[in-house]
Amino acid sequence: MIEHIPYAQDILRFLERHHYTHVVPKAALIDMDGTLYDSMKNHTQSWYRLMTEQGFECTRDEFYLYEGRTGASTINQFFLAQRGREATEDEKKELYHTKTVYFSSLPPVEVMPGAFDMVSTFAAAGITRVLVTGSGQSSLLNRLDNDFPGLFDNRLKVTSRDVKHGKPHPEPFIRAMQLAGVSPSQSIVMENAPLGVEAGDRAGAFTIGVTTGPIPPDELRKAGAAIVFPSMEECARQLPTLLLSLLTVNNLPR
Ligand code: MG
Repeated sequence: MIEHIPYAQDILRFLERHHYTHVVPKAALIDMDGTLYDSMKNHTQSWYRLMTEQGFECTRDEFYLYEGRTGASTINQFFLAQRGREATEDEKKELYHTKTVYFSSLPPVEVMPGAFDMVSTFAAAGITRVLVTGSGQSSLLNRLDNDFPGLFDNRLKVTSRDVKHGKPHPEPFIRAMQLAGVSPSQSIVMENAPLGVEAGDRAGAFTIGVTTGPIPPDELRKAGAAIVFPSMEECARQLPTLLLSLLTVNNLPR
């Protein structure tokens, strides 16, 4: 019988790994860059421009791997690796500011195809949505209410300004659970980046990985994703089935 339930094996594997008996989704904790917006190309381009101008050695694609970290943490990592010291608070602030200016000067980013349907599905299922981003990029944060009208409550947002530790630390998602008043086994995380997936899984949430850039699906699985979808459009198509399966598996005798 269980083999007829879509995603049942993935769900059971997740329950076992986290020692849960149930997942009852009450809140969706949703990443922004690369999940709601097709913004990663612009982010990697502006990081690359900033860091090469500052005399750091780097490649454009390596910034995909740092996705999810706060800007300050990315900057500090370069200072530690290539200057042998921490970046000062002023350096972090100034360089991150320059990075946001470079980002804002690039052509506007588009909403990720499928993202609106994904968020709407959670809303229709009565599942609270919380934005959880390592970004402090106000040019995108300010667009959210226009692009996803009525879907995100302003009080339910966790940005780089609200946390001490960015992803892959679980703090951003734990903070989001507290805001929504839910427990880890009542939470679904939506993520596109390995560090974000790792943070979601470490926070104890059922973490859905979606590949929307050059990172291969296996990296998201290794980071702890319960399920990986090959695109946000496919994720949006499958999400109603997956939510139903989560509830069906709960009611099976085990
Ligand atoms: Mg992301």
